[in-house]
Amino acid sequence: MKITIFQLSLFGINTYLVSDTVTGDCAVIDPGMITPQEEQAISNFIETNRLHLTHIINTHLHIDHAAGIAYLQRKYGAPVYAHPDDAILGERIDAQAQMFGIGEKLENVTDTIPLKDGDVIHIGQGTLEVIHVPGHSPGSIALYDQEDGFLIAGDILFAGSVGRTDLPGGSHDQLIGGIKSRLLPLPSDTVVYPGHGPATTIGHEAKYNPFLR
Ligand SMILES: [Zn+2]
Ligand SMILES: [Zn+2]
Repeated sequence: MKITIFQLSLFGINTYLVSDTVTGDCAVIDPGMITPQEEQAISNFIETNRLHLTHIINTHLHIDHAAGIAYLQRKYGAPVYAHPDDAILGERIDAQAQMFGIGEKLENVTDTIPLKDGDVIHIGQGTLEVIHVPGHSPGSIALYDQEDGFLIAGDILFAGSVGRTDLPGGSHDQLIGGIKSRLLPLPSDTVVYPGHGPATTIGHEAKYNPFLR
């Protein structure tokens, strides 16, 4: 599948759009759009490329990854997929907005299709495998495209860093243990697309990430 990155304003979130080049089916992962311009940028891309949005998928339900869900649902009617251990975060999107001083009134996310570890999501002829790595949030997942050799890592793993674990439900030991046992064994040339900051590879992080020594 083809991956397109939208770098948005809310905490510098990376929103990803993955599309199957054969069927034109696509998924938006971690929709963080908060301004009409950002919403329009995603819609323009979908329409210009004649894509069909079949999935909205969240690596987790922190507000920066979820602010644009309601817009996409209204416009395209696609279902939202997330791990059920983050359901409580989805029910508190408005409270998260207040906590982070975001003025906009945002809708809670209550109607999600649950994803569990090992699930395979089909987007056209492409697939994303769900890897559950809790610790940044209880329901954090990474999405692995084995065929194309990339991993969408949410706030689990960054270039040179890992997700913060001081928010509710966080656990540093769980996060580091999960990255080491579930992500580092992937092929070293797997490209990692994190929720914030630049892309990296599994091999580079295994070698140089100071949190994984
Ligand atoms: Zn997060
Ligand atoms: Zn984030």
